[in-house]
Amino acid sequence: MDLARHGVPALTPPRFIDLHMHSTASDGSLVPSEVVACAKSAGLSAIALTDHDSVAGVAEAVAAGEAVGVRVVAGCEFSVSAPWGEMHLLGYFLPVGDETVEAFLDRCRADRRRRAEVMCGRLQGLGVAVTLDAVLDEAAGGAIGRPHVARAVVRVGAAQDVNEAFDVFLGRNKPGYADKVLPTFSEVADLVHAAGGVVSAAHLRDRATRPYLARLKQEGLDAVEVRHPRHAAETRSRIAGIATALDLARTGGSDWHGDVGPGEGHGSLGSQTVPEDWLARLESRRPTPR
Ligand code: AMP
Ligand code: MN
Ligand code: MN
Ligand code: MN
Repeated sequence: MDLARHGVPALTPPRFIDLHMHSTASDGSLVPSEVVACAKSAGLSAIALTDHDSVAGVAEAVAAGEAVGVRVVAGCEFSVSAPWGEMHLLGYFLPVGDETVEAFLDRCRADRRRRAEVMCGRLQGLGVAVTLDAVLDEAAGGAIGRPHVARAVVRVGAAQDVNEAFDVFLGRNKPGYADKVLPTFSEVADLVHAAGGVVSAAHLRDRATRPYLARLKQEGLDAVEVRHPRHAAETRSRIAGIATALDLARTGGSDWHGDVGPGEGHGSLGSQTVPEDWLARLESRRPTPR
């Protein structure tokens, strides 16, 4: 039957995107081109690669995306100070090779390395024979994070798996934990804006209150992460309402880390069913070049 002849419009199936995920450039388990291959098979039309404190995986991901027809947005997940300690910011549309951004991220990664050394010292004090070299091996050149320390802890047999390593040693307030050196929100927002990008506040859960987001908006917040594995339906709709009220764009993503175990609130790729038009609206918030 020719549906068009009977006045039935041809419906294009909705297309979905995923704006939060990690590769081996930080604590993910797949290299950027593998991340893109997975996005392709998950049927996603666009992704943002948002490694912690790194855009080193972006060029490879963009090239892989061009080859298979998946749009790859250059992103980065920054850690910044917050009234309760630490919060995460997603920067989008970062030009690869921007000297100011790269210099900033180099400093963040150097701080992460020093912090890993502190954590190794604490672990050794607890009788866990983890060395900085072992952690560096796990990170294989990517931005060093607690997951790499956790894998090294598992390797020496002091924990059964990464989750146990976090539960016993590396979670906040556990004896092997050390704080990060954290920049302020406005420092990172200014950096991203100067490079032509936009910032979204990641996985805020109950911390996403209207007064707090209004304050961040005054300091340059462009968007807020609505869909995330740690946001239940209720949280999503509450944050979406605040986004509308404050005229913030919405972002969403799985926070996928590849085949790393369940961990803390990581979803499977594409699991957040983020509509494609969220990306267009996010992009419309980009600052005009000076
Ligand atoms: P860091 O940035 O070094 O503080 O490490 C935080 C990262 O560790 C997060 O981005 C998660 O990928 C991972 N993570 C946090 N908590 C857990 C957990 N309980 N189990 C496994 N992975 C975790
Ligand atoms: Mn992570
Ligand atoms: Mn995060
Ligand atoms: Mn993340």
